[in-house]
Amino acid sequence: MSRVSFNRKRAKLKQLLGIRARLALLAVILVAPLMLERARSLEDARAKQIAAAAAEFSSLAKHSADTEREVISSVETVLKSAAYIRASVGGIGKSCDMLRASLPTNLPWIRNILIVGGDGRVQCSTSNTAVGADMSDRAYYKKARETRDFVFSDFLLGRQSHVPMVMAAYPVAALNSENDAMVLASVNLDWMSKVMSNLGRRPGVSAVLVDSNGTVVAAPSNPAQLVGKSLDEVPLLSAIAEPALTSNEDEGSLSFTAADGSKRAISFARIAGTGARLIVSNDEDQATAAIDRDIRTAYLQLGFVSLFVLLGALIAAEKLIVQPIQILAGTAKRFGHGDWSARATRDHLPSEFVPLARAFNAMAAKLSQRERELLATNDRLTVIASIDMLSGLANRRGFQSRLDFEWMKAQQYGCELSLLMIDVDHFKLYNDTYGHREGDACLTKLGETLAAIATETMGFAGRYGGEEFCLLLPNATADRAREVGELVRASVQDLELPHRTSLHQCVTVSVGVACTTPSDSQDPGELIEAADAALYAAKHRGRNTVVEHGFGRPSGGNGIAIAS
Ligand code: GH3
Ligand code: MG
Ligand code: MG
Repeated sequence: MSRVSFNRKRAKLKQLLGIRARLALLAVILVAPLMLERARSLEDARAKQIAAAAAEFSSLAKHSADTEREVISSVETVLKSAAYIRASVGGIGKSCDMLRASLPTNLPWIRNILIVGGDGRVQCSTSNTAVGADMSDRAYYKKARETRDFVFSDFLLGRQSHVPMVMAAYPVAALNSENDAMVLASVNLDWMSKVMSNLGRRPGVSAVLVDSNGTVVAAPSNPAQLVGKSLDEVPLLSAIAEPALTSNEDEGSLSFTAADGSKRAISFARIAGTGARLIVSNDEDQATAAIDRDIRTAYLQLGFVSLFVLLGALIAAEKLIVQPIQILAGTAKRFGHGDWSARATRDHLPSEFVPLARAFNAMAAKLSQRERELLATNDRLTVIASIDMLSGLANRRGFQSRLDFEWMKAQQYGCELSLLMIDVDHFKLYNDTYGHREGDACLTKLGETLAAIATETMGFAGRYGGEEFCLLLPNATADRAREVGELVRASVQDLELPHRTSLHQCVTVSVGVACTTPSDSQDPGELIEAADAALYAAKHRGRNTVVEHGFGRPSGGNGIAIAS
C-alpha cells in the first residue's frame, strides 16, 4: 500500500472517529463487560433453574410412585390380614364377620374385600355384593393361585357394575398351604387418581398411572376422560407409549417433541411388585417460561441501560465538549472575519473550557488593539507618504490621488476642473547663487504661499516635483483659473525673495493653466499634459508669466492664450 493511500485512509478513519463516536465507543467499552457478565449470570441462573426444575420434577415423579406403592402396599397388608383371619378362624361365616369388623375404615382406596372359596366362588363380601360370583376365570385370580403370592391386576371393568377398577389378590395358601381360599380387594381408582393430585396441579405437568398393558389406571387431572384409555390415545403421551412401556428399566427419563410442538421430558417409574408404571410428562418450555421471561426482561433492561448510557455519553459529549468547541470555533471565525468585538461567552461553557475562553478573549482583545494601532500607523504612513516634508504640501502621489478624486467628482456633476502648473524661474541659478539650503528655504516659503492661496481659492496645492508646484481648482472656469494663476504669480513676486541672477532680481514663477469639463473621452493625465504645455509656453514667453492652454475650450482646440 502506498504511503499516500495509507495516509488518506488514516484521515478517513480519524474523520469517522470523531469525538462523539469516540465517547460512544468508550461508553460501549465500559458497559459491555457489565452486560456480558449480566448475560452470563442470567444464562447460569437459567441452567441452574432448568436443572432444579428437572430434579424437582424427577423427585415429584418418584414421590408419586412411592405414594402409589404405599397405597398398593397397604392393600397388600390388608389382604394379608384378611387371609390370616380366613386361615385362622374356622368357618367362612365367622371369618366374614371378623373381616367386616376388623376392616380399617381409614383406607378409602379399598372399595370391597372378598373371600373366594377354592371353587372360585365369592363366599364373603364386605359390601355384601358379588357373593356367589365365580372369579375363577380371572387372570389375576389364576396368577395368585399359581404364584401363591400377592397379585395386583391390570385395569378391569366390573362385569356387572361396569365400573373401572383394579383388583388385588392374595391366596390364603401363602399362609396355610392346606387352605385354598383367596382374598380379593377391589381398589378405588378415583382414589389412586387423587393420590397423584400433587402432579395434576402443576402447570405443564401431565401424569398417568398405566397398567402392564398400557391402559390408564389413574390420572390426577381429568380422570373421567383418561382412565381406561390406552396410553396410545392419551394426548401428548402417545408418542412415548412404546418406549415407556417396553423399557426394562424400573425408572428412566427421555425427552421428545410432542404433537403440539412443545418440548417435553418424560419420567417413568415402575410401581414395585406390580406391572404398573407411573408416567409423568413435563413441558420443558413451560417449566423454563418464567426464567425465560426473566431473561428476556433482563436483556431488555440491559438494552435500555446500554441505550441510556450511549445516549448519555452522546449528550454529555455534545454538551460538554462539542458545543463548547463549536462556540469557541464560531467566535474565532467571527474574529477571523474582522469582527473585533467577538468574544467567547463564558456563561455557557463548562468550567474546564473557561480558562481557554479567557485566554482566547485576552488574545482577541490584544489582537484587536494591535489591529487598531496598525490601522492608525497605516493611516499616518499614508498621510506621510502623501505629504512633501519640505513644502508641507501634498507630494506628487498625494496630488495624483486628489486629482483622480476631483476628476471623478467633476465628471459626475458635469463641473469644470482647472489645473495650474507652477515652476520657479531659473531656480538652478538660485541654487548656484545662494546654495542648496537657501534653495530649500525658498521652496518652503513658496509652499506656504501656495497653501494660503489654496485655502483662499478652495483649491488643492501640491509639490509636483523639484521646483515645480501644482494647484488644483475644482469647479473653476478657465477665466477663474487664469485669475488664480495671476494671483499666484503676483503673490510670489510680492514675496520679493532676492534672486540676483534673475532678470527680475527676485524669485518669480511661471504658471501654465489648463481647464476642462472631464468626460469619458479624456483622462486626468491629459489635463496635466495641457497645463505642462502651457507652462512650457510661459517659459518661452520670458517667464514670470501665466499662460492658458486652450485644452477643453469648445473653440480653443490646442490653441494657447497668454494671460499676462
Ligand atoms: P527654468 O526657469 O527654465 O525653469 O530654469 P530652472 O533652472 O529653474 O530649471 P532647471 O530644470 O534647469 O533647474 C531646476 C533646478 O531646481 C535644478 C535643481 O537643482 C533644482 N532643484 C530641484 N529640486 C530642488 C530641491 O529640492 N532643493 C533645491 N535647493 N533645489 C532643487
Ligand atoms: Mg522645472
Ligand atoms: Mg524652473
